[in-house]
Amino acid sequence: MRGIVFDIDDTLYCRQDMLVQAAETVLGVKVPDWPLFISIFYEKSDINMAQLESGEVSTRDINGWRYNETFRLLSLPYKPEDGGRAADAYLELQSHMFISDELASVLDKLAQDPEIKLAILTAGESRHQWNKVDMLGLDRWFDRSSVIVTGDTPYTKPDVELFSMMESRLGLSPSELWMIGDNYDKDIAGAITSGWHSLWLNRRGIPDPDALPDITVLNDDEFVSALAKEFT
Ligand SMILES: [Mg+2]
Repeated sequence: MRGIVFDIDDTLYCRQDMLVQAAETVLGVKVPDWPLFISIFYEKSDINMAQLESGEVSTRDINGWRYNETFRLLSLPYKPEDGGRAADAYLELQSHMFISDELASVLDKLAQDPEIKLAILTAGESRHQWNKVDMLGLDRWFDRSSVIVTGDTPYTKPDVELFSMMESRLGLSPSELWMIGDNYDKDIAGAITSGWHSLWLNRRGIPDPDALPDITVLNDDEFVSALAKEFT
């Protein structure tokens, strides 16, 4: 038996592009360096993740702040209210997010395999992340009891408590489990510490860290191929 545990954002769908598109729409300018924009936005995202998960601040407020900080550091022309407007535009884009046909067909195969259990471990505010479960139609492959949203727990990624919580949920041992995610520090490092296998979707081409996952891929095509090769 193997358990395959997926992150959602930037793993099951690509969130990065929507973040920058929303900024460009609101500011009315082209963002010259998308990778830099994304890396600054994600650095800012790490700062207040815990407050977001506890529900102290809303996703809209925090995304507005992250946008304004990113605009400021990149010297993009913006007014204070643009952060919130970009957060709204991003939410609107997110309402159209979908699972690619290629990924859906691999997930179909995995969901039909009696030797495989599928699960999700995602970080963020409870309501916001459960909305994504619905919008992406993840019920087709994932049992809701196998979905852990950090906002529903006292922990944040990469706390090893989350990984042991998942082990109990699925009734599997660390060596039977795989973590599949895009964020090395949040998804992969926690899995390695917990004795899990891991597949890293390194979308941003970050240099190899010391502790390597079992598999590293760089884009969606390689991701779908790796899933099919390893698990089907
Ligand atoms: Mg992610």
